[in-house]
Order: sequence, then C-alpha cells, then structure tokens
Amino acid sequence: MSDTALAAESASQSPLAHEVKRRRTFAIISHPDAGKTTLTEKLLLFGGAINLAGQVKAKGERRSTRSDWMKIERDRGISVVTSVMTFEFNDLVFNLLDTPGHEDFSEDTYRTLTAVDSAVMVIDAAKGIEDRTRKLFEVCRLRDIPIVTFINKMDRESRDPFDLMDEIEKTLALDTTPMTWPVGRGRDFLGTYDIATGGVRLLEGGGAKTGEAEQIAIADLASRNPNLDAAAVSEELELVSEACKPFDLESFREGHLTPVFFGSALRNFGVGDLLEGLGRYAPAPRAQDSAARKVEAAEPKMSAFVFKIQANMDPNHRDRIAFARLCSGKLTRGMKAKLVRTGKNMTLSAPQFFFAQDRAIADEAFAGDVVGIPNHGTLRIGDTLTEGEDIQFVGVPSFAPEILRRVRLGDAMKAKKLKEALQQMSEEGVVQVFRPRDGSPAMVGVVGQLQLDVLKARLEAEYALPVDFEISEFQLARWFSADDRKTFDTFVNANGSGIAEDVDGDLVYLAKNEFYLGYTRERSPGITFTNVKDVK
Ligand code: GDP
Repeated sequence: MSDTALAAESASQSPLAHEVKRRRTFAIISHPDAGKTTLTEKLLLFGGAINLAGQVKAKGERRSTRSDWMKIERDRGISVVTSVMTFEFNDLVFNLLDTPGHEDFSEDTYRTLTAVDSAVMVIDAAKGIEDRTRKLFEVCRLRDIPIVTFINKMDRESRDPFDLMDEIEKTLALDTTPMTWPVGRGRDFLGTYDIATGGVRLLEGGGAKTGEAEQIAIADLASRNPNLDAAAVSEELELVSEACKPFDLESFREGHLTPVFFGSALRNFGVGDLLEGLGRYAPAPRAQDSAARKVEAAEPKMSAFVFKIQANMDPNHRDRIAFARLCSGKLTRGMKAKLVRTGKNMTLSAPQFFFAQDRAIADEAFAGDVVGIPNHGTLRIGDTLTEGEDIQFVGVPSFAPEILRRVRLGDAMKAKKLKEALQQMSEEGVVQVFRPRDGSPAMVGVVGQLQLDVLKARLEAEYALPVDFEISEFQLARWFSADDRKTFDTFVNANGSGIAEDVDGDLVYLAKNEFYLGYTRERSPGITFTNVKDVK
C-alpha cells in the first residue's frame, strides 16, 4: 500500500474525523457594495454571534474612505477579530474568513482564498457580475474552489433572473442550478420558491427562519399581492424546472457548477437557505498538497500553514499575529510545533482561537480552523508548522506586482533602518521588496495603490522613516527559471541591471513594459517567466 493510501486509510478511522466532517471553511467574494458586510452580519446572527456581528457592522460603516481604512488598520483589535469569524449552526462549525473590503486589490485577499474550502459569491441582482467578482472568481477557479452563489438585493429593482444565470454561465463559464427562485420582483418581491420541495417561502412569513418552506399554492399567491400574475408565475416556474440543470454535487465540488440562491441580505431573506445549502453541499476541509505528499484532514498529527500576517495593535511591540490554517490533527494551547523552514521548534503558548460562542475557553482547533499565533517575526507567510514531519505546504502564492516603485528616503543616514523595515514589511506581506543586483535603491512592488499608502503610513508611524515613491524605469517583475544552471546564469549575466532579488533571495527579471518582456522572452529560449510564485 502506498504512503498516501495508508494515510487515507488511517485518516478514515481517526477520532478526529467527526470534528473535521462538521467544519465548513469559506470566504465571501463580491464586488464592493454587493452586500458582503450585510450578509456576513446576518450569517453571524444565525450562529448567535451577535456581538461580533455588531463589530462587523461598525467596520462596514466606517470603511468607506481611505483614511478610515487606515484608522481601522491601526485599530487592529477589530480587524484581527473580524479576520476570522467562527460560528456554529445545525451542529456544524462555520469558519468565515474575511477578505479585505477596501477598493484596492490586495494579495491578502488572494492568500485568504488559499485557506478556504469553498466560497460564497454575492451578486447584486441589479448589477450582475462585476469586475472584482470576476477577478476573485478566477482565483477560486485556479484552486477549483466550489462556489455557492447568492443573488442579493432581490427586494429592489433587479435584472431578470434568467438573464443573471445566463451571465454567470457565459462570463464565468460556470454551470448554474437555481436552488430557489424569486416570486415577484422589486417592491412586489414576495419570497422564494424552493425548487426541491416545490414550496414557497414568503418574505413576510419570517424568511429569517430556516426549515421547511411554507407550502403555499401558487394560485393563492395572488391573494397576498394583487400585482402578482399567478398564471405567469406558474409558467415561469415550469420553465425553470424544464430549462435548468439539476444540481450535481460532484460537478459543484469540482468547481464546474454553482447552486444559486436568491434573497435579500438586508431583509435577512434567503440567508438561512444559503447557510443550509453551504452546510449540506460545501465540502468539509479537504486534503492539502504538500511538496512531498497529500495531507488528509483527519490525519492525527497536527499540520498548518500561515496565509496571513498582521502586525499587532501596539506599534511599540513589534509582535505580529500569524494566521495559520490547520490542515490536519489537533492544535492545543502550549503544544510544540516545528517550523519546517528553519527546522526549529516553537511553543504555541498563546494561540488565539476564534470561536465565537465561547472564545475564552475554546482551546483546541481542528483541520479547517484558523488560529492566530503571536510571534516576534519568526513566522512568515507560506510557513508550514508540523509535529515534526518535514513537509511544506504548497499553493500560498505571491503575485507579480502590478505597480513597481523605487523608495526614496529623505535621510540617507537611515538607509540601514529602511532596509530592515522593508524586510519586515515584506515578510508581513504588506508589500514585496526587490533589491536590484546592481546595488541601486530597493524597489517595492504592490498589487494595488492602497498598499503603497499603507506602507508609507506605517514606515512613518512605526519606524519614523518618511519616504516617497518614485516612478521607476521598470514596470514589471517576473520570476524566472531554467531547466539548467548554465542557461539560468547566462540569462542573469546578460541582464545585469534588470535582475533583482525578492525577500526569499529568488531572482526576478525587471522589464520596462510588456513589449520588452515579450521581446526578452523570445530572445531567451529555455527561460520560463512566471507571475505567480509559491511562497516558501
Ligand atoms: P459590501 O461593500 O459588499 O460589504 O456591501 P454592504 O453590505 O456594505 O452593502 C452595501 C449597501 O447595500 C448598504 O447600503 C446596504 O444596506 C445595502 N444592501 C445590502 N444588502 C441589501 C439588500 O438585500 N437589499 C437592499 N435593498 N439593500 C442592501
């Protein structure tokens, strides 16, 4: 029997299997304003996490401008808490990982998606698929993350539901199966028809509750709303059942099909259906790829990887919280873990468990859960923790920056301090730092402009280093590799000033623009360029 088969067999008999099976770890992907914050709040209410929901709301209300966002970043107490929200519902444990809500695209968002097993895609019913939704969806697709769709704001004027389904199918190349169907639109939105049971759940009839939909005859619906044409509704529902594909679990789990729920987060309608759907269909923590082997979630030994680092609330203490997703085993307070990158052991003396109901006493975590590990810079994004085995999880990505800038320092005497600060910021994942081989000043790379604002503010506040950014002659950075050492070295030597090192010492090629990159690519047979790198 192979190692993997053995691991799988012992995993199925593991006493941890029960805990693993009842976990659902997911994120919400959406375009700003589609209703992510509102939906999050309502989901938490189902789990009884009312205090947390209040905090989410506070965050939502204050989040609109850049300066506000910086304030929130400084007020890390809130963002640490809301980075992971855990609640129990129907004997299932849901871990909702927050993706930053601000306008700019950030690497944090991408990386958070490496730590989930499924995602909820929220779409504004009046707008359909928007720019950010599409981008985030692409990231999910790279990892075959199954997606559940929630079409929100059905209480307002919306686009035709068939149209919306068609748009999902065409623009995302994703099959759709409606699980519910809206009855009435906008002001005349009455509720949803449950396709599996044929019942109608009415908005006024307490849509917040879950359970069996109230069985009400379509013909009687008109008595609830005289504007509703019962015959037209029946006809539409017939069309839905004829035209739409039946739900196929396997296809959903493989990321090819999305079940679609309609509702209104604001009115807490359809949210229960969505949550039940997640519980029923979304996968429990799945096996994770490491460089050496697949690690099954119910294996007895603890393993985890770090996908996010957050500086702590108090800028005088340079400690950080590393967010680690458990991949297997059980993590308990005080246990020893091996940091595979360095080979050293560390004691997890004060891990933070994000368990909404009983945060104070929860002191163990299982596969799918996220824990916060306070440290002084020992842990980096992409790090693997184990109980001794030398495995390294793969798939936490670094993305080639979309903006490159040179850092200009007002006071040249502080160059060494800047170097240290940039190193720390890049280990934290705030920005990427590239050091040109020719000794010229370091460049920083970001995916969105906001990251530069954050870097500038933090260098000033935490390191007393006022900096500016200059446009550089280079616009693009690409990691590169070659099959053999000689080809690699020849390329490096031929491109002296266009070669830089990233935080791990890996080399990148800096190009003036896409055209130059294409030109170089053509002239450099044997060299492969990539814009995504696995963090080591
Ligand atoms: P986010 O940017 O995706 O987090 O969106 P928010 O949750 O902050 O919602 C954006 C706006 O849409 C807010 O004014 C919400 O009150 C509103 N909103 C959210 N859900 C609904 C809904 O179901 N119906 C209506 N009418 N408005 C909604």
